[in-house]
Amino acid sequence: MTLTWPKRIGRRLALGFGALVTLMLLALMQAAVPLKLVGEGAERFATQDMQRLLRVQALSLQIEGVGVSFIRLLNAPRDTRVAEYADVDAQNRRIDGIIDALGNDLADAEQQETLRRLVACRAIYADAFIATVDEIEGNNAEAAARALAEQVNPALKAMLVESNALLSRERQLVEDQLANAQSMLGRIVWIMAGASALVVALAAWLGWRTTRSVVKPLARLETGAKDIAAGNYSHLIDTTGLQEVDRVGAALNTMADTVAERERQISRLAFEDALTGLPNRAALLQPDQTTTAHRNTLALLDLARLKVVNETLGYPTGDSLISALAERTNTVVRGAAADGLISPEPVLARLAGGTFAIWFGTLNRHNTQTLLEQLERAISAPVTCGGQQVDMNLVVGFADLGASGMPQTAETLLRNAEIALHAAKRSAQTHAWYSEAQEAARVGHLGLVTDLRAAVAESQLQMWLQPKFSLSTGEAIGAEALVRWQHPVRGFVSPAEFVPFAEQTGHITLVTQWMLQQAVATLARWAAPYPHLSIAVNVSTRDLQDPGFALRVKDMVSASGINPKRLRLEITESGLMEDTRQSIALLHALNEIGLPLSIDDFGTGYSSLAYLQQMPVTELKIDRSFIDKVDASPGTQRLVQAMVDMGHGLGLMVTAEGVETEAERATITSLGCDVMQGYLGSRPLHGKALQDWLDRLPSSDPPQV
Ligand code: C2E
Ligand code: CA
Ligand code: CA
Repeated sequence: MTLTWPKRIGRRLALGFGALVTLMLLALMQAAVPLKLVGEGAERFATQDMQRLLRVQALSLQIEGVGVSFIRLLNAPRDTRVAEYADVDAQNRRIDGIIDALGNDLADAEQQETLRRLVACRAIYADAFIATVDEIEGNNAEAAARALAEQVNPALKAMLVESNALLSRERQLVEDQLANAQSMLGRIVWIMAGASALVVALAAWLGWRTTRSVVKPLARLETGAKDIAAGNYSHLIDTTGLQEVDRVGAALNTMADTVAERERQISRLAFEDALTGLPNRAALLQPDQTTTAHRNTLALLDLARLKVVNETLGYPTGDSLISALAERTNTVVRGAAADGLISPEPVLARLAGGTFAIWFGTLNRHNTQTLLEQLERAISAPVTCGGQQVDMNLVVGFADLGASGMPQTAETLLRNAEIALHAAKRSAQTHAWYSEAQEAARVGHLGLVTDLRAAVAESQLQMWLQPKFSLSTGEAIGAEALVRWQHPVRGFVSPAEFVPFAEQTGHITLVTQWMLQQAVATLARWAAPYPHLSIAVNVSTRDLQDPGFALRVKDMVSASGINPKRLRLEITESGLMEDTRQSIALLHALNEIGLPLSIDDFGTGYSSLAYLQQMPVTELKIDRSFIDKVDASPGTQRLVQAMVDMGHGLGLMVTAEGVETEAERATITSLGCDVMQGYLGSRPLHGKALQDWLDRLPSSDPPQV
């Protein structure tokens, strides 16, 4: 049987329960009708049938009573007869009264007939009665007795016969009625039991159907929700025909769509760089990327000076630079792929900050050169951010499978490209290829530094001094001490070759110690003739990690008796950043001794202005990469200007390093720099050259170097 259910749960339940209540009412009604019949029967029985039966019974008794009364009358003395008459009369009247009453409500024709015969007998009895009374009054006792015996008694007997017939018939009727009522009651019990069983069955069926009609859609909803929980968003929940459930289903479908969209976004964010929309490091290093056969050359691009752009011109400017680099590199790479210069199309990804990676299929060195030239051209135009023009400088490190052609993991290639990038930066090149020779050179350099101990002991080291000049007066204000190594076998070794490795192994502290001793000794000699000249010694990260460093410097200074203000210490930004808390404490200790401190190579490291403010430094040395051709680059000028403003804002003296041309000097002067250092002023000097330079200085008493 199919039911057309209402569309709403409320209505559906109301229908189900309404039907149940109706069924129960019907059951009650079908029980009420026979109960009413039984009730009516019982009432009739009590009010009519039973009364009639009693009446008929009373009639028989009266008739018998009259017979007895007559015998008493007959034998009564004359003076008591009146009372006996009255008694017989009263009985006769009662008999008549009962007969009259019965005449109205006898049950059937048979009884009527019997009653009629009774009435006829009554008439005979009346005559007999009068005849007998006459004899009694006539004092004919014998005749009276005869009349009684022959007329009255037979008449009464006949009446009694009829009355008894009536009685037995009435009894029969009453018994029949009782039997009827009993069988009816039995039937009613059966009917009610049957009807109740039917109602219960119907109710159970209805309840089951109602429950199922609600539960089934809910179960579908549950399955749908579980589907969504399992991440199966495409399987939508169908309509169930139940409004409330369908509303929840629709909400779940919407939720599934939203969650699916959000998941897509999350996975996009996980593999996509938010700023440039390029794949990120995770995407680049995905297993399917690394196993792709033709990916065997990795280029690592680094946007130099990003940090200083962020710090001085603001992060939005830095972001614009990154976006511009991403866009231009993308265009160049796609163009090169379209021209067939490189194939298959490479993957460009942004790894972090200003570092990008390009994963090439094949790339021979000639093609690389062409691609690099295209890249350099593409990024040579300054980027305009917020009305300002900013230059981009790019350094690239390449790594490939190498001569061995052995397959390498993406991580290995990335590490090699990083080594190449650092090599390029160290040698101030725009790019470098990773090579095993490079690795060997690295190892060779490391071997070299073990000779440093001997170099210090055997005086292979020299201190060269590069003068610094005030840009406002043009006068020399001091010099920076630069180490030189005259290796007994290798000959001259540039500090760029051994200082980074000496820093890595910790040997640099020997160099610093030696240079400090030389500087202090020189300052002691200069004290009288050039009391205004200072000497700056380069201090490395390793020195800053040595808790005894400040004390050693202090002892050295006080032993020599020099003015501590003449001994400067130059610290690179990156050195400061390594262990900020400890470095700051050490810088304060050095400052307390009275030594002025300089931040070296400013703009190339990763300093944070917040930290810079906490440091007791007095000089900011702008790295020479910013000064190189600064006169021809408005973008760089803006950066230098920002750095100068920042330095002055912090109350620092600002020095420009690596000034080589008049044009550069003019530009940095106009940008507000205080001091210059560079080949234009003087190359680093030693021995006689240094002495000659000192001799030319306005001094009364030329000192010995
Ligand atoms: P730095 O501290 O920035 O030193 C300045 C470098 O720039 C010197 O190179 C100097 O010769 C060079 N220079 C000066 N003027 C010009 C110029 O007009 N044009 C160009 N192209 N270069 C110029 P140098 O002596 O080769 O030193 C290289 C680096 O080695 C130094 O850079 C410094 O970081 C490190 N270094 C040198 N001596 C020492 C030292 O005694 N101790 C420590 N820890 N590091 C040192
Ligand atoms: Ca320096
Ligand atoms: Ca420097």
